[in-house]
Amino acid sequence: MELYDKCKKFTEAKKVKAMGLYPYFRVISSEQNTEVIVNSKKTLMLGSNSYLGLTNHPKVKEASIAAIKKYGTGCAGSRFLNGTLDIHIKLEEILADWVGKESALTYSTGFQANLGVLSTIVGRGEYLITDKYDHASIIDGSRLSLGKLLRYKHNNMDNLERILQKIKDKAKLIVVDGIFSMEGDIAKLPEIIKLAKKYNSRVMVDDAHSIGVLGKNGSGTSDHFGLTDEVDIIMGTFSKSLASIGGFIAGDEIMIHYLEHFSRPYIFSASLPPASAASVIAAIDIMKSEPDRIDRLWQNTNKMQKGFKEMGYDIGVSETPIIPLHVGDMMTAFKMWKILADDGIFINPVIPPAVPPNDCLIRTSFMATHTDQQLNTALEKFEKVGKKLKII
Ligand code: PMP
Repeated sequence: MELYDKCKKFTEAKKVKAMGLYPYFRVISSEQNTEVIVNSKKTLMLGSNSYLGLTNHPKVKEASIAAIKKYGTGCAGSRFLNGTLDIHIKLEEILADWVGKESALTYSTGFQANLGVLSTIVGRGEYLITDKYDHASIIDGSRLSLGKLLRYKHNNMDNLERILQKIKDKAKLIVVDGIFSMEGDIAKLPEIIKLAKKYNSRVMVDDAHSIGVLGKNGSGTSDHFGLTDEVDIIMGTFSKSLASIGGFIAGDEIMIHYLEHFSRPYIFSASLPPASAASVIAAIDIMKSEPDRIDRLWQNTNKMQKGFKEMGYDIGVSETPIIPLHVGDMMTAFKMWKILADDGIFINPVIPPAVPPNDCLIRTSFMATHTDQQLNTALEKFEKVGKKLKII
């Protein structure tokens, strides 16, 4: 046995590439908007998580450039030592106030935020309870934690209660995605909070996909349900609606203070670049001052949900701008990707192990800045390909 044997054995991706059906790592050579350039071709972007279309907003760009001019391009150190700038503190105050918590802490990615909070807050002899469809960063965070991981069936409250009953006297944290990243459904937060109260559990919500989409001024799932005080930990990312990169954890001051001193991905990794901090501050400002962007996002979402359903597509449990089409096996998903790519549409196929073998998805996601005309064109093309591949 040799270390690289597994690499040599992994040939599936190369085979799919040779067939011209490999849909990953596509190269974009333009600004990121509702239209992008892929292989020198104008392509309608239906696969971005920039739900409010802020990545090229002039104010966000200008804030980012001004921060580079003032602070430079990077911090060359962690927050703990030389990497704390006044703009980090300002951003954390804005975030805490926006999501309705005492304090907030920024990490360099959302992935690190989940690793950082879960590995630190859930210790030996304690329990982490996750939804089976929670994001990979939550799974990996729970692997790093010394606590024990228990998983319940997706959005299944009976299953969650059975698990909670078994560990009712233990210290525990329930962790859910606010909006599930592939299915596009919303966590049943009111029921989760009820169970958490009954069985004395803390609750954390990952708002990666809910920021900019749910709640007042896009402040997330907890606000959407009026449950901000009941949710203990709110996690968010800057890499989607907030048009940059980075992540944050918000909650009680004592919990944040503990993270500051024990969270290894926070202490041993360089801090958020100033340009990112500045662009997030600008993006939050725009969300507060232009609430019609969120209204427009929901108009587009409702139009596409209705359009896909009327054509006969199975969109599963989606109720947000993330609209997956259940298309069947992997080859059907790849063929659909190829036909749509040739026809100037960018979508993301989701295949095993992310989904069961015969339930592959074509994940579409919509933005506030898509025009009616763009969406109508997309619907026409989806109808054509759906009929051709006998999906609808
Ligand atoms: N949580 C969820 C639910 C996500 O979808 C993602 C990103 N795909 C993350 C966390 C990680 O966020 P980031 O991109 O900031 O690392």
